[in-house]
Amino acid sequence: MKIPTICRYCGGVIRLVPARKIYGASTDRLGLTNENIYLCQNCNARVGCHKGTNRPLGNVANEVLRLKRRETHQVFDAFWRENGMTRTRAYKWLAGRMDLPEKNAHIGGFEMDQCQQVIELCEIELNREAAYACRNYRCQRPGGRAGGVGGDDRHRPADPEEPVYSGRSRSGQELRHQRFPQPDHRSPAV
Ligand SMILES: [Zn+2]
Repeated sequence: MKIPTICRYCGGVIRLVPARKIYGASTDRLGLTNENIYLCQNCNARVGCHKGTNRPLGNVANEVLRLKRRETHQVFDAFWRENGMTRTRAYKWLAGRMDLPEKNAHIGGFEMDQCQQVIELCEIELNREAAYACRNYRCQRPGGRAGGVGGDDRHRPADPEEPVYSGRSRSGQELRHQRFPQPDHRSPAV
């Protein structure tokens, strides 16, 4: 990412300043001790750096974009934590889905459309999990179709030892389903 020197919003001069200048007493809590930030001297548009470096995460953001980046972070962080993914794995998944090199997959540097894309990717993945849990659940219902919705026979009552689901989705990330009801294949599907 190119070092920003002139603000894209107001044409003001951008300087590298210590994060403490912006975040004051919250700097340490935010994990930004000794970190620097590119800041427009005129309108306060800004962007952080890759940890421990002066390489900007992306282009400077005005308040609207900063709020969007923050919202995106909240959605994404909740998404990977709930899925039991590690942070590293989550960013690899994101880079793959967005077709970006991993080094560029940082929400702190994303533009508005990329932020929205992240939010939608998380929603799609969560909906797919919910759909899976639903099929999985039906599988144990008396009188329920063994194949579940769409005749998918992965969930047919079978050998109790047989894994019902590989735990990997198409994108390869591990999903946790412990919070959903697990099928009990020992009970007969009447
Ligand atoms: Zn500016």
